[in-house]
Amino acid sequence: MSSTETAKTNLLGLSLDKLAAFFESLGEKRFRAVQVLKWIHQNGVDDFAQMTNVSKALREKLAGIAEISAPEVLGQWDSADGTRKWLIRVSGGSAIETVYIPDGDRGTLCVSSQVGCSLDCSFCATGKQGFNRDLTAAEIIGQVWIACKSFGQLQPPKSKQERPRKVTNVVMMGMGEPLLNFDNVVDAMNLMMEDNAYGISKRRVTLSTSGVVPALDRLADVTDVSLAISLHAPNDELRNQLVPINKKYPIAMLLDSAKRYIERMPDTHRKMTIEYTMMREVNDRPEHAEQLAELLRDVPVKINLIPFNPFELSDYQRVSNNALRRFQQILLDKGFTVTVRTTRGDDIAAACGQLAGSVNDRTRRSERYRDAGRVTSREGELLAEERSPEQPVRIVG
Ligand code: SF4
Repeated sequence: MSSTETAKTNLLGLSLDKLAAFFESLGEKRFRAVQVLKWIHQNGVDDFAQMTNVSKALREKLAGIAEISAPEVLGQWDSADGTRKWLIRVSGGSAIETVYIPDGDRGTLCVSSQVGCSLDCSFCATGKQGFNRDLTAAEIIGQVWIACKSFGQLQPPKSKQERPRKVTNVVMMGMGEPLLNFDNVVDAMNLMMEDNAYGISKRRVTLSTSGVVPALDRLADVTDVSLAISLHAPNDELRNQLVPINKKYPIAMLLDSAKRYIERMPDTHRKMTIEYTMMREVNDRPEHAEQLAELLRDVPVKINLIPFNPFELSDYQRVSNNALRRFQQILLDKGFTVTVRTTRGDDIAAACGQLAGSVNDRTRRSERYRDAGRVTSREGELLAEERSPEQPVRIVG
């Protein structure tokens, strides 16, 4: 790529407001932003020459100063159960993973927000890869663009082909902690929900966080997407071992912040999802279910139980079916809505918690994991502290 090309503005990740500002800086009206947004995100066009309702002079000007550049797909795998996974190259020598999970008339895309993750939850394959950097907004929405294109969901306006609506839901639950990449994640989610782009309802776009409380406290200022909390433990002692950021922002602080977020939603009856990954003999006992019920007694939640998916470098084991059903029944008896996430995409290593990609690790954590075979929980906590969870958060507004 020449130095002239690298200086071009990538329009793929610009929200409607940012694209409008870009056109206004060229002396063009706001409606140009709507036109171009539709070409990119509804028609899947990445060549200005094809934007036939834009004047030839403007198209030529755009070609000189801007580009529509999605990250490169390195591989695509289809599971026997319909799950699809992509390995996507991002600049800096790393690759991230994105997964599509069909379920009846719903199709959920699990999108990554960072290259690796700095937080190192002990049951998560991504954490073992270390961390490289935040994804740009173009790299985040680029995952949606790539998935929709692969299903023929983005097509030129006069196409005779049927436009399947395969991606109906998006969860920011792939590699990385979305709230540590605040601005870019918010821009990308705005594009997901924008009527002139993907038009996905705010109830069908979910941000999942392990608990970066200062950023969560600001989230309602800029969006009202659905919220999921990666809880995984019913008390601080256990959660400190599984999710090291809990030492900084313990459960009570996290749930208070999440409740405030839900209370600020304009529509009533919104509930947050509690994600609870279940590991045998770790957090799957009846007393854990009792504690969880007590903890969530006054919180508007639905609970999603996720059987742990084993991966290399992890000592944890999948919960037994008996323990899972017993745990679920205790919560059901207390009046909670409780779902169990079926493991999908096992045959292509696309199941929850298994996303690894290829991270050019800046933290050297992956190297230490490889050398040690395992690390103790205390080492895991120290490694998680390598990157302060507060420092990199860039709040908009
Ligand atoms: S569970 Fe989420 S926050 Fe924790 S290490 Fe994995 S990707 Fe990061």
